[in-house]
Amino acid sequence: MRVGIFGGTFAPIHNGHVNAAHQFVKECKLDRLYVIPAGTPPHKKAPEMFSSQDRLEMARLAFPKDDALNEKIEVSDFEINRKEKSYTYNTLLEFSKDGDELVLLCGTDMFMSFDSWYRFKELFGMCTLCLALRNNSDTENLKAIKEKKSEFEKKYGAKILMLDMKPFEVSSTEVRDLISKGKNISNLVPAGVWEFLKNGSNRNI
Ligand code: ATP
Repeated sequence: MRVGIFGGTFAPIHNGHVNAAHQFVKECKLDRLYVIPAGTPPHKKAPEMFSSQDRLEMARLAFPKDDALNEKIEVSDFEINRKEKSYTYNTLLEFSKDGDELVLLCGTDMFMSFDSWYRFKELFGMCTLCLALRNNSDTENLKAIKEKKSEFEKKYGAKILMLDMKPFEVSSTEVRDLISKGKNISNLVPAGVWEFLKNGSNRNI
């Protein structure tokens, strides 16, 4: 099986994540995609607005099993349930156990510092990396991204693809800022997540 892995803090999950995940499944012809909210993210501190369980629940609500595409997407609590730091290396080790071919989705912002990730050289050998453009300014930054891509390919034999996608420009930081200002963010998050934010367990909103 060709299995995709999409990790992130997802605080909260937003339409940029969903757009990239859907394109990833289609373009990479994945049999299954695991969306994996991080427990203790190694690259950033989890924002206090949401508990781990809130982030997991919102990720589940973002991918209701309502069509053939979403049927292939499963939200995993693997990292949330681990006590140790969430390193992608450990997650890939776990998800490669059945001998599946792994493809790792990564936004272009994270990609630029991929060589600071824990055991990144081994990561290159464990999966194909698939890049999602985050915003339209990335089109201008495309040169830098392409240079990084060839550097990793030459130096480490990395296998790297780029999704042919129109970015949905939003970040979780922006969503949190708008929430704290009492703004309507219904156009930035999936419908189920919007309902959760209005009625769910997070009473600070
Ligand atoms: P924050 O604003 O809190 O830093 P974020 O919006 O970057 O959060 P993360 O959960 O950190 O979201 O991102 C998980 C993964 O999704 C990363 O690889 C990131 O690059 C990617 N990503 C985030 N937003 C988008 C987007 N709008 N389009 C494509 N990929 C995205």
